[in-house]
Amino acid sequence: MTNPQLPSHLRRISHVFVDESMTDSPMARRVRERLTGTAQEAIPWTVVPENQDRIEFERGEEQALYLKEYKGKFLRFCPGTRAYHCCGYRIIHIGENCPMACSYCILQAYFQDRILKIWANQDALFSELGNSFGADRNTRFRVGTGEFTDSLALEHLTGYSHDLVDFLNEYDNVVLELKSKVVDLSWMAAAKRTDRVLPAWSLNAPYINEHEEFDVSTLTERLQAARTCTEAGFRVCLHFDPIIHYPAWREGYAEIIDRIFDYVKPEQIAYMSLGSFRCMPQLTPIIADNFPETTYIYNEFVPGLDSKARLLRPLRVEQFSFMVDRLRAHGMDKQLYFCMESTEVWNEVFGYTPSDFGGLGNHLMARAFER
Ligand code: SF4
Repeated sequence: MTNPQLPSHLRRISHVFVDESMTDSPMARRVRERLTGTAQEAIPWTVVPENQDRIEFERGEEQALYLKEYKGKFLRFCPGTRAYHCCGYRIIHIGENCPMACSYCILQAYFQDRILKIWANQDALFSELGNSFGADRNTRFRVGTGEFTDSLALEHLTGYSHDLVDFLNEYDNVVLELKSKVVDLSWMAAAKRTDRVLPAWSLNAPYINEHEEFDVSTLTERLQAARTCTEAGFRVCLHFDPIIHYPAWREGYAEIIDRIFDYVKPEQIAYMSLGSFRCMPQLTPIIADNFPETTYIYNEFVPGLDSKARLLRPLRVEQFSFMVDRLRAHGMDKQLYFCMESTEVWNEVFGYTPSDFGGLGNHLMARAFER
């Protein structure tokens, strides 16, 4: 008898919670079906009564999946700050928390439990999105789901991105970016056009990938997936965020930058962000606690205008300049942008600022809809 395992990043799920109102939802039925026949088939399900606003789950490394009826807004603005140039993308909120573990992950500060929440009331989500995207078909939207979770981490169980791609086929004024550190390309089957979905992977120096990112796909797997998408006609996005200052950073970032172009061509990359490690004050002790081997948090940081600690500007500029020079040598140019950086840093590294091309949000919107 076959008893296949779930992908390794989902094997710590040992319990499913489901809101009473969602027990019969398509999402709950799908998760049940997809667990059937796997080693996790027998994990217990608990129905959460309507009047219960909190669930308790505390079992060491184990994780719980919570299929929840979400009552808030699904379409949001990215929580960027006015002090720096923000890319202005919109978030489709599909759930919270992530089964993987990256030492630098901001979600550790947001969610201090091991409960992976998925908004199971997809009908409400699609209704809100339809109202927003359908109100004026001339208004364009660049949207993504990878802000409070990884876009594809739970895809194997939920098929959420597949459903979203399917729904958005009707809205050619929307480009969806699916940002992930794992490989799950099952959403591709739902895409009727290749120019309205931007699969995206975060990359880092091999040393950082090996020492600071756990349960994620390898860099090679991510790049192979990017190549598969480009071969199918999609463009991809690649992101270097957070760039980390560690002793051999030059060799590490040079190596991964060079490897990118063994898999994809510059013109197949819609855009690429560069972001230096930034850290809310309350995140540092959490990283130190969760990842005691981590040393980059003890670098030289200063508080930024958004109150987050960021690497001293000369060090950031040095890293950015090194990476931008190398990327430009491979043919990358206007696809490159900084995530949350100042006008001064843009000028120093790129020699221009977002205002020179009408603002970062406008620039990325134009690139997203280029085809
Ligand atoms: S994959 Fe992304 S969301 Fe998940 S832990 Fe890593 S940084 Fe956080």
